[in-house]
Amino acid sequence: MLIDYHTHNELCKHADGTLEEYVQQAIKLGLNEIGLADHSPMPNDWDIEVRMYEAQFWADYKPTVLKLREKYKDAITVKFALEGDFFPGTESWVKSFNAKNEFDYVIGSVHYLGEWGFDNPLYIGKFEHVDIDQVYISYYDHIKRSAQSGLFDIIGHCDLVKKFGHRPKKNIEEVLRETFKVVKQSGMSVEINTSGLRKPVKEVYPSEQILRIISEYDIPLTIGSDAHTPTDVGRDFNVARQLVEKYGKGKISLYTNRQRSEVNI
Ligand code: ZN
Ligand code: FE
Ligand code: FE
Ligand code: ZN
Repeated sequence: MLIDYHTHNELCKHADGTLEEYVQQAIKLGLNEIGLADHSPMPNDWDIEVRMYEAQFWADYKPTVLKLREKYKDAITVKFALEGDFFPGTESWVKSFNAKNEFDYVIGSVHYLGEWGFDNPLYIGKFEHVDIDQVYISYYDHIKRSAQSGLFDIIGHCDLVKKFGHRPKKNIEEVLRETFKVVKQSGMSVEINTSGLRKPVKEVYPSEQILRIISEYDIPLTIGSDAHTPTDVGRDFNVARQLVEKYGKGKISLYTNRQRSEVNI
């Protein structure tokens, strides 16, 4: 069983390829499921440079995903999903937006600390002016609150803060344990996201330090490439598969209508 639950497309303006090209690539690779999980719109079309307008969601994204699901149903299972943002203050908007849709799952990602889009290469300079330990503590506080929010099914790239190679000076094991205890209580899965291998950090999200904690707490796993170009679908899944064997007893979570089930990879 092989799935890719984290893919984007040209609607977010920083990815190439149509939704259909991602589905066709997944079929070519022989995947069982492909999750179309583009960046969610935000209230008042905030940060529109890196996401679709809400109007595009209704007029284009949603109908296209549902059409592709039908068109390719004999070849692959297409999941209707989104990558949402945990951004304090937007919770009630996200809750009502999600309720208006029949998503299979919603990934919850932290891409902002305050207004700082810390994973955007445009704003990398800010890392020079902040205390990296404090950035990590704030990041994991956001992850914890995203799990407590009840808005999402899967924690996206749960150590994205390392993307450009910035590492905390102190050991954050206790911060991680406290965070993933809350994730466990939330019932959410954590994704193994291979896109980190293509970023300056050159490492899968999450790190093996976190995967050890996840394994100890018995937190379920999913897999995603975070493809922003069709040929990145399923990238480095041999690595992901080995990590699922080692830290997830060889099991991955599937989602339909926001209900989780588990299968052997
Ligand atoms: Zn993106
Ligand atoms: Fe993301
Ligand atoms: Fe993504
Ligand atoms: Zn992402």
